[in-house]
Amino acid sequence: MLEQPIALITGASRGIGEAIAVHLANHGYGVAVNYVHSREAAEEIVKQIRDSGGQAVAIGGDVGVTADRAAMMAQTMDSFGRIDLLVNNAGITSPGRKDLLEATEENWDLVLGTNLKGAFFLAQLAAREMISLIEAGSIERGTIVNVSSISAYAVSTNRVDYCIAKAGMQTMTWLLASRLAEEKIRVYEICPGVIASDMTAPVKEKYDRLIEEGLSPIKRWGQPEDVAKAVAAVASDAFAFSTGDRINIDGGFHIRRL
Ligand code: NAP
Repeated sequence: MLEQPIALITGASRGIGEAIAVHLANHGYGVAVNYVHSREAAEEIVKQIRDSGGQAVAIGGDVGVTADRAAMMAQTMDSFGRIDLLVNNAGITSPGRKDLLEATEENWDLVLGTNLKGAFFLAQLAAREMISLIEAGSIERGTIVNVSSISAYAVSTNRVDYCIAKAGMQTMTWLLASRLAEEKIRVYEICPGVIASDMTAPVKEKYDRLIEEGLSPIKRWGQPEDVAKAVAAVASDAFAFSTGDRINIDGGFHIRRL
């Protein structure tokens, strides 16, 4: 078994997940880099980490699919023999960004299935694995980090499914935190604001304007690395007497202002 802590990061082939994987690898974690479509990108990230002396594997799988989640967890254990940190980062926006009156059940099932159901049941699998490892004395504790969004409370009527999935993540985080504290597993919600990635690229001009007009007190785009640093922080010993917290990485967007 490797001595270093191991993290499984979902949706780590691009954007925020990639930054989390690279940052954790640079800070001593072995990382499982999950992707669903971008195999080459995930393998390139793995190569870069290995070239810099780190440990990484690329693991394909759709977080919305039961068998894929089980395979992802099994592959992580086969590769590293342990898991200390799960980062539920994979997520999709609402396909077509349809108005609430045109929202479809098909999109609802896809978005909720990926962003919320997938995250919960992967957390369940990871928690079971962590509990076994802790009982065996192989690891001391575990951490689960759920990446939600300001869309958990700031509604967009053209992304009903996305907003509801992200809102559900807060309660999911509280539930997991409440149950898993006695198992020595801490659980956090990271709540990013507007972050530069493929997800926000189609609406870049709109957000450029809103940020310039003062959307958040800190007037700049968030970068994937801003989120990555927060994930590493909550997974560290710095937050030992906390669990269930929402950490806003949003330039202060959440502050109501007059
Ligand atoms: P992104 O650039 O669109 O990347 C999405 C990542 O998720 C990709 O690695 C993608 O893999 C993966 N993914 C998508 N569906 C998946 C599935 N079913 N199974 C496994 N992996 C899947 O998105 P991002 O901006 O980095 O967002 C990452 C997370 O942060 C999401 O949960 C998002 O909701 C949240 N967030 C983003 C922002 C923002 O402003 N960007 C703000 C708040 C919250 P492939 O490359 O293989 O397709």
